[in-house]
Amino acid sequence: MLSNIRIVLVNTFHPGNIGAAARAMKNMGLTRLYLVSPRDYPSFEASQRASSATDVLADAVVVDKLSQALEGCSLVVGTTARLRTVQWQQLDSRECGELLFDESEQHEVALVFGRERTGLLNEELELCQSLVNIPTSEAYTSLNVASAVQVLSYEIFMASRKGSIKQEREIKDEKDQLATADQNESMYDHFFATMDQLNFFGSKNPEHVMRRIRCLFGRARPTVREVQIMHGLLSVAQGKKDKGKKPE
Ligand code: SAH
Repeated sequence: MLSNIRIVLVNTFHPGNIGAAARAMKNMGLTRLYLVSPRDYPSFEASQRASSATDVLADAVVVDKLSQALEGCSLVVGTTARLRTVQWQQLDSRECGELLFDESEQHEVALVFGRERTGLLNEELELCQSLVNIPTSEAYTSLNVASAVQVLSYEIFMASRKGSIKQEREIKDEKDQLATADQNESMYDHFFATMDQLNFFGSKNPEHVMRRIRCLFGRARPTVREVQIMHGLLSVAQGKKDKGKKPE
């Protein structure tokens, strides 16, 4: 649930970054911004950079200490521009989006961003259970903080869409479900019989050809309806079925 996800900005120096982060969040369906001791806030520049996300800014919770922003959260993920020596579970941006979204279905979670110059302090990292690093070119690993908010908010949003796409699939017509192994097998048998009848194999090794056909459909993962179309086509090729009437 996106409303269970907090984006926490620690000690942000430039108010423009706060505004840009609010905008990035709203674009991706996130609304809960926490500001830990921002240097200059509220600010005109923050509102300007937020553009149509001034509502996210207006609702932002301002606190003095990181621990206050994390009250009630069962999972806290910290962001870092460089990989640290173990101790924490380390995630990449995609894994982070999936973990945060999955857990947000059960409880409140937080994603913490550090200062522009120095990132998060060790004592702040101690409050996190996992760390996330956005993979970058080795030549320059540090993103602007609002850009980092954008990338990770996007990953959370994509993870949330995956869930709804899955659900959509579940309620679809039965014929749009993936064909089962036995349905595929009967299609391959039909392919074999038809090709054999048409003398397609000639000097070719039928086993090799059939393996290719299996690979092709294995990659495509046809639905029940698509397998039925193949049966229809093969039956016509075998002369067992009238071709469908052409539309007028
Ligand atoms: N020198 C600092 C860089 C801070 S960049 C450091 O090494 O941590 C400011 C903030 O942007 C970081 O604290 C983090 O919240 C975020 N950020 C920047 N680059 C990132 C990356 N590659 N992966 C994850 N977060 C990043």
